[in-house]
Amino acid sequence: MNIETLVRPNIKTLSPYSSARSEFKGKAEIFIDANENPFETGLNRYPDPLQWKLKEQISTIKGVPVENIFLGNGSDEVIDLLIRIFCEPRVDHILSLPPTYGMYKVSAGIADIAIKEVLLTSDYQPKVAETVAAADEHTKILFLCSPNNPTANDMEPDRIEALLEQFPGIVVIDEAYIDFSEQKSFIHHIDRYPNLIVMQTFSKAWGLAGIRLGMAFANIEIIQYLNKVKPPYNINQLTQSAALEALKDTDQQSEWVSTLLKEREILSKALAQYPFVQKVYPSNANFIMAKVDQPKDLYQFLVQRGIIVRDRSKVPLCEGCLRFTVGRPEENQLLLAALNAYTK
Ligand SMILES: *Cc1c(COP(=O)(O)O)cnc(C)c1O
Repeated sequence: MNIETLVRPNIKTLSPYSSARSEFKGKAEIFIDANENPFETGLNRYPDPLQWKLKEQISTIKGVPVENIFLGNGSDEVIDLLIRIFCEPRVDHILSLPPTYGMYKVSAGIADIAIKEVLLTSDYQPKVAETVAAADEHTKILFLCSPNNPTANDMEPDRIEALLEQFPGIVVIDEAYIDFSEQKSFIHHIDRYPNLIVMQTFSKAWGLAGIRLGMAFANIEIIQYLNKVKPPYNINQLTQSAALEALKDTDQQSEWVSTLLKEREILSKALAQYPFVQKVYPSNANFIMAKVDQPKDLYQFLVQRGIIVRDRSKVPLCEGCLRFTVGRPEENQLLLAALNAYTK
């Protein structure tokens, strides 16, 4: 597949902003090239526009070469950039498979890009043939989310591979929840599929939603386009420092994940016992989707007790469902105590 033919013509010919720090990045005594304040505050300098140190650390942990990594101001920035790289407003469109993450549609809407949707099956797997059939020459990007939000399940790898082989455009696999799944990441398939982009994030398992840092893994050509269109200093210094610090302590991340997986099992079993819970869906993520008798009523009941869950009951194929993020053990116990007091 030729990636270049998928890129918008204006992006191909664009000359990107060349920042002071990308024109010179060696060693020097005096930096008077960027109109910064010279007095040391720890933050008076512009950050590294390409985040080399941080990417080297990520490269070691993920086993993916530095040049195949892009960092965004959250995965949400990566979604936005990809849409703007590949989709011509009012001409091209994206394809997504609901029920799924809402940002694909919102980002497309902001860019004036239409979205085509093919519903997942009733057990939340992609319909491969229908999805491929829905694509034409203007269908630039297919967004897959595995494990999927809000349904919490993995997509079957065979179906993902079939889509990678057959879909005629860019395939994004959003792996925001991959650390909670037993499924293997697709990051090691980026060599095999030039049209594949895998997204991961520091917002979930790494406990750093506040710093806004998302990762994308893809072939060099796509990474170069992302670097071309991103704001020059999209990852600020505080974010780069905090992420480097967190990556030193991978044991902490593993410990959180294993605690949350144990809690997920406890909570799933407990939820299934309530007479007003019709179904607890299996989860490969750090949240649980459950179908309940009166979702709005239960949602309000929990709000009154200071517990906020996500009401997904109006989402097609998620009728009646609430989504519960797995909390700390004591928070989960408080949720169950509140549910014990709910008698409908
Ligand atoms: C939480 C989440 C993300 C994370 O987005 P960030 O911008 O990195 O915080 C991405 N995709 C999905 C499906 C999510 O649920």
